[in-house]
Amino acid sequence: MGHARSMPSAASSRRAGAASAGYGTVGVMTGLVALSCCGRSWVGPDRAHCCGRHGGCGQVFDDAALWDAHRSRGACRNPKELAELGLARTKNGIWIRQ
Ligand SMILES: [Zn+2]
Ligand SMILES: [Zn+2]
Repeated sequence: MGHARSMPSAASSRRAGAASAGYGTVGVMTGLVALSCCGRSWVGPDRAHCCGRHGGCGQVFDDAALWDAHRSRGACRNPKELAELGLARTKNGIWIRQ
């Protein structure tokens, strides 16, 4: 009774390392690129941002085609109109196709 071994086991530590790597957290971390501009912040280098510094509405879109869709005769559509076009805003504030 009371016999305890504190010698580290190479096999168990290797297994623990493999388990944490299996979640792919490193890949997710490196895949996230945080950007911020004119009071907005978002994740992803490929977003299309309508910059408030150039008189834009400041919205961030999933791609350039959605950015085009939000412009009407040289003006920005408001969020209500974007929703009517079938766009939805993610919890991160990025407009996507529904
Ligand atoms: Zn901007
Ligand atoms: Zn805009």
